Amino acid sequence: MHESLERLPSTPRMPALFVGHGSPMNAIEDNGWSRTWQALGERLPRPNAILCVSAHWMTRGGTLVHTGAHPRTIHDFGGFPAELFAQRYPAPGSPAYAEAAIALPHAAQLRPDLDWGLDHGAWSVLIRMFPRADIPVFQLSLDLSLPMQAHYALARELKPLREKGVLVVGSGNLVHNLRMLAPGRPPYDWAVEFDTRMAAALESGDFQSVVDAEDLGAVMRAAHPTTEHFLPVLYTLGVADEADRLSGFNEGFDLASISMRSFVLA
Ligand code: ZN
Repeated sequence: MHESLERLPSTPRMPALFVGHGSPMNAIEDNGWSRTWQALGERLPRPNAILCVSAHWMTRGGTLVHTGAHPRTIHDFGGFPAELFAQRYPAPGSPAYAEAAIALPHAAQLRPDLDWGLDHGAWSVLIRMFPRADIPVFQLSLDLSLPMQAHYALARELKPLREKGVLVVGSGNLVHNLRMLAPGRPPYDWAVEFDTRMAAALESGDFQSVVDAEDLGAVMRAAHPTTEHFLPVLYTLGVADEADRLSGFNEGFDLASISMRSFVLA
């Protein structure tokens, strides 16, 4: 085992989450989505650290891991009320756990980063789930130059972190098409089709069909004109254990083209 991993205390295997984060307003709105995040935070075992893989940290030609001790709250959105920009999530970083994550993969060379912090894909969820902000959090970037299978393979090498008390949180959306947002409208047929296919694959444990979602062609391109909100689910599935059971939460759509479908592996 890697030295940096060995130094960390062992724990029972932590659950892993995929969270559909949707609108940044979920950080401050008391609604069905955010209430579920709050309830989940109350019943999950307390992690030693949280590794968040958010749709909103994109890199090319390398995967970065934030190793800072005090990650800043990044307000990476526009056109929202001042109350949202005033939010801070002052959780500490976790240099020791981040270094362990960097040391694990063989297939990819992860690199330390001190510039990022916590983007809204991470903090808008965590501020409801763990409002005391007293659990160390670190993020891992999405290298957009990698094929889907490589993200999944990289995530599989991060799995030992779960036995070190790390809660892995993939934060994206299983359907995410911002050009087609339609307030007050039912979800589009293609959105329901893609979401239903993903749900069926997840529930039957056929994770490879999720990894191969690009084979679906037009329905994948409609659900994800760009792939960054899809990729985080590959990290949650990558750290899955054969003994895990998958349980869903927050099924449903926001604004007709955002699936909020989320799940816990435990
Ligand atoms: Zn997002």
